[in-house]
Amino acid sequence: MAGESHAYFEGKIVPFSEAKVSVATHAFNYGTAVFGGIRGFWNEEAKRLFVFRPFDHYRRLLMSGRMMLMECKYDEESLTQLTLELLRMDNWQRDVYIRPMLYKASLGIGVRLHDIPDETCIYVLPFDGYLKHEEDMHVTISSWRRVDDNVIPARGKVSGAYANSALIKSDAVQGGFDEALVLDQNGHISEGSAMNVFIVRNGVLITPPVTDNILEGITRRSVIELAKNELGLQVVERSVDRTEVAISEEAFMTGTAVQIAAVTKVDYRPIGNGKMGPVTAQLRTMMNDITRGKNPKYERWNVAV
Ligand code: PMP
Repeated sequence: MAGESHAYFEGKIVPFSEAKVSVATHAFNYGTAVFGGIRGFWNEEAKRLFVFRPFDHYRRLLMSGRMMLMECKYDEESLTQLTLELLRMDNWQRDVYIRPMLYKASLGIGVRLHDIPDETCIYVLPFDGYLKHEEDMHVTISSWRRVDDNVIPARGKVSGAYANSALIKSDAVQGGFDEALVLDQNGHISEGSAMNVFIVRNGVLITPPVTDNILEGITRRSVIELAKNELGLQVVERSVDRTEVAISEEAFMTGTAVQIAAVTKVDYRPIGNGKMGPVTAQLRTMMNDITRGKNPKYERWNVAV
């Protein structure tokens, strides 16, 4: 891409620098937006950009919007088409991060969700790695608790709830860790600041259920399918106690930004032998091939630009 990129903003495609909201915008004041995070992966040999599971991402965005009483005149199909239009217009030839948002757009004072006009925007940013230690993450157990379904539903990607994620992430990083695992109000492991979590115990892949205050991750869903179908693993969705992480054979975290990252140490305890395990390594290789359009069996997950 040469020059300035474009964004979809207030009903049309505009130069990125013109996609600006007011200081009085409801979403800016009260966190009343919902967002998505979608990746585009550049395949250098094929000279093509592949967008990973955009329909699933947009379905989740619209579901988050419904929880927040938002109206979006688009469905997942038209949002995907709009995204492809933006990507083609700027001819991206590198990995990118696509950020769609639905937000409460009025300029008045007043905390509520009803009777406020909504807007949709989409922008694209160049994207390189998210974490330094994808193969040997050192995590802590956060002293913060995950937002609860009865507080701000973690199942929806609600902007305001990311103050919780930001507290979790900064305390972990400033304490010298790469990331944190967060407990929910019942004391079970829910997820990381912006990643889902898996452990391997006695050869079984275990991940917290969608009722333990997690975001229903698209990478999580993909990993569950790959583990069952390609590695023949038993996958169990059940609550996970904090002590289980330290005694597991392997642990890893998943998300659009990080993809699959090995967790090799939790607080002062090594996980397994303290090195990335075989299940994590195989899933990482598989996902990397799939997202770059190198695995025909999972081509249905990709939309080529
Ligand atoms: N949990 C939270 C809180 C997140 O923000 C994210 C990133 N979207 C995830 C988990 C991972 O979800 P996904 O695999 O869909 O990116």
